[in-house]
Amino acid sequence: MSNIPSRLEQVLSLNKPIKCPYCGGKLFQEATGYFRCHDCNEVTLDDYGKVREFLEQNGPTPYPVISNVTGVKMSTITMLLEHGKLEIPNGSSYYLQCKSCGCSLRYGQYCSSCAKDAFNRNMINVEVIGQKPSQPPKTDLNPEMKGKMHYIGKRR
Ligand SMILES: [Zn+2]
Ligand SMILES: [Zn+2]
Repeated sequence: MSNIPSRLEQVLSLNKPIKCPYCGGKLFQEATGYFRCHDCNEVTLDDYGKVREFLEQNGPTPYPVISNVTGVKMSTITMLLEHGKLEIPNGSSYYLQCKSCGCSLRYGQYCSSCAKDAFNRNMINVEVIGQKPSQPPKTDLNPEMKGKMHYIGKRR
């Protein structure tokens, strides 16, 4: 494994808090996405922390909504999913798609069968290997969400 920061790390570092927004004190990373101030003890979140905290408090939420509420870009949320930092729960109405065969994925960029091949050819990082949902996507889609996400099984 190389130490070169992944695209995800580069994107997250753009909005990484450097100083405490409350007192200007020094921050230390307490957990992935969570930064605590040395001086006032307040916690500041980066984009990953914001999304994670939102999901912990609100449960599964369509990601345009997450993006609106947290202010984290849709592209960042997608990248978090593609790198397995977040996952879509089973029984969701939308999933990611394997970049190779197009099957539904809860996270990652490639399903395990396609990944094996690409991984052997050294084309992908192990962190983008995803997992298929145990149930097919639900079809009761909210029409407002259509076209905003990658729906699987959409009939044209
Ligand atoms: Zn502080
Ligand atoms: Zn595949």
